Amino acid sequence: MTRRVLVLPGDHIGPEVVREARRVLEVVAAGFGLALELDEGLIGGAALEASGEPLPAETLASARHADAILLGAVGGPEWDQVERDLRPERGLLKIRSELGLFGNLRPAILYPQLAAASSLRPEVVAGLDILIVRELTGGIYFGEPRGIRTLENGEREGYNTYVYKESEIERIGRLAFESAAKRDGRLCSVDKSNVLEVTVLWREVMDRLAADYPDVELSHMYVDNAAMQLVRAPKQFDVVVTGNMFGDILSDAAAMLTGSIGMLPSASLDVASRGMYEPCHGSAPDISGQGLANPLATILSVAMMLRYSLDAPAAAAAVEAAVSRVLDDGLRTADICTSADQQVSTSAMGDAVVAALEAQMLEESA
Ligand code: NAD
Repeated sequence: MTRRVLVLPGDHIGPEVVREARRVLEVVAAGFGLALELDEGLIGGAALEASGEPLPAETLASARHADAILLGAVGGPEWDQVERDLRPERGLLKIRSELGLFGNLRPAILYPQLAAASSLRPEVVAGLDILIVRELTGGIYFGEPRGIRTLENGEREGYNTYVYKESEIERIGRLAFESAAKRDGRLCSVDKSNVLEVTVLWREVMDRLAADYPDVELSHMYVDNAAMQLVRAPKQFDVVVTGNMFGDILSDAAAMLTGSIGMLPSASLDVASRGMYEPCHGSAPDISGQGLANPLATILSVAMMLRYSLDAPAAAAAVEAAVSRVLDDGLRTADICTSADQQVSTSAMGDAVVAALEAQMLEESA
């Protein structure tokens, strides 16, 4: 069966890292006999320049048609003054909500080869392997009403609405319990139920779901404590499930535990496991066009795509092994480079992963 993959490079370093990840996808697909049809589209600032919209109808139509989407990143200072609804980032929020991509899986794995690149002591982070499951299409980022209004006394007031329906909590909860059941069987639900009613309901639903997953041990933690524990003793966590905003913040903190945001892949899934795969980082305008971007987060997002949407776990493992092999060889982009390593450019890192993958597939077929 031919699977359709839509590639959306986006802005700044987006196209640089996606170019390398696309090559890896093509090589691994050829090696494992996967029939893929790759299409490319515009999103973000690039789409705004070309069509006046950050998510053109044509891109959305291709996305609805695809089994999986590979996205780079969107945004940049040149679009900071654009009207809010036309900002590149709106394109991203819209594609996530239009496709119903409610479940964001963000692994934070510290490759042993990179323990020195973490901002925490190696013994605190060595062997770290956390999965953060973030609700992506609800919560305060989407709640209505929202806006900035002028009060009777002339003062302006900004407001947003933090809402979750029971069904939305249940949907993300089940994804998290199922993910935990496939791992170490520990799930920590993060909320702020001492202050926010919406997360009192969140906690109640998680407790109710726990009865359906007897093999998973559920615990709860307030978000302020979770932020502290994540930098104090991160290895206590296996799977963390939380809402949109808390997940946004905690997953970036987890990113730094691994040394660089340039190493972190992500998957955003719908109810049928169709998904969008993208690095956790943004478009990094400060380093774009210089060959400095680390493509490994995007390449590891390809591995997640193979595992979650393309039913190709062996191909996924091959990509992950190739990344590990390249790190073993001491190759590093600037963001993860220490004095003992060999600093390489974005494309040289892509070349090295492709070469490691080809060598590995050749060994296996011999
Ligand atoms: P960012 O993630 O782009 O960059 C933060 C820092 O990390 C920068 O110093 C950058 O150089 C570095 N960095 C990021 N990715 C890297 C990589 N692959 N290799 C090496 N270093 C890397 O976040 P920001 O600076 O806050 O945002 C820049 C733009 O990206 C903004 O327009 C923002 O809205 C957008 N953004 C987009 C997404 C997305 O597309 N998913 C996510 C976050 C931010």
